[in-house]
Amino acid sequence: MDLKSANFWRDALAAATASCDTKLRIMEVCGTHTHAIARYDLRSLLPENVTLISGPGCPVCVSGATFIEKIRYLLRQGITVAVFGDLLRIPGANGTLAGEKNLKVVYSPADALAFALANPQLKVVFAAVGFAPTIGAAAALMAELEEKNCENFSLLSDFKEIKPVLSSLCDNCRLSALLLPGHVASVTGVEHFADLPVPGVVSGFDPENILHSLLLLLQAVAEGKKDHLLNNYPQAVSQSGCKGALELIGRYFSLSAGVWRGLGMIPGSGRVLKEEFAHWDASKLYVLDSIQVKENPSCRCGEVISGNATPESCPLFGKMCTPENPAGACMASTEGSCAAAFIYGRGGR
Ligand code: SF4
Repeated sequence: MDLKSANFWRDALAAATASCDTKLRIMEVCGTHTHAIARYDLRSLLPENVTLISGPGCPVCVSGATFIEKIRYLLRQGITVAVFGDLLRIPGANGTLAGEKNLKVVYSPADALAFALANPQLKVVFAAVGFAPTIGAAAALMAELEEKNCENFSLLSDFKEIKPVLSSLCDNCRLSALLLPGHVASVTGVEHFADLPVPGVVSGFDPENILHSLLLLLQAVAEGKKDHLLNNYPQAVSQSGCKGALELIGRYFSLSAGVWRGLGMIPGSGRVLKEEFAHWDASKLYVLDSIQVKENPSCRCGEVISGNATPESCPLFGKMCTPENPAGACMASTEGSCAAAFIYGRGGR
């Protein structure tokens, strides 16, 4: 961004908060926003009384050590587990999965199914993490699975719904407003985020779009519009979302309690296969629910994810924990807050 644009946004954001004499806390929910904000140093353009807090929108980061250990258990039973590459760097209770046998790195749910179809002699589990866009892709996969009658494929779901955590975060983190995730909203629609207790703006990802969304949020806060909900990413997001994807999700998945690193169990924040599709549910097929492990107490990822600590406040940050040698999920994931803070810095806020 050139100097003229930077000055424009700095002045506009300052003008929007000129009448506010309290400290404002805005959470950017999505990991892609976190990285764009850090990369373009957008914090440096915010008024002094505005703090941007990174939220729980990195899907790999919010999956806990228990999920990693379930995958390890499967691998050691000789079952092939298809994973997104970032998961290989996330520490479980017994280190990362790197070096384990029977892993298959995939880039999409469709890759995982293609691998299973090409290798009928293997039992293949897709270790599924992600929010609405990935759940939609997995639901499409289930439809294909039904058609192709593939018997060697199952799904270990750690899918998450973001909205149920946002209300509790608004209270726990004393948030003033939410920069809402454009990727998730492209599937769910803007309406999905109605009824939050603070103003929200669905945003795209280029720096000017993020700054404009922040401006809209600050204006709404200054005007006391608590139920303000705006779509500032209309090129990708509609009011009611992607009907086909939502129908598919509803056909194959039901809501469940979700377990989030740092936030614990939150009712209605997980997505699991419906009972009638239990024959594709790896947690039932391989009886994985009894595997439960504790998080590494030295890593403060839980507090970072829940907006209660900055990455820099973790004693391991930049010393024992770097992107090359991550000690926790938020540094290991390319969308993690600690990785963003380490790579780009956060302008001290
Ligand atoms: Fe965890 Fe590393 Fe972040 Fe500390 S710096 S919270 S150890 S990921």
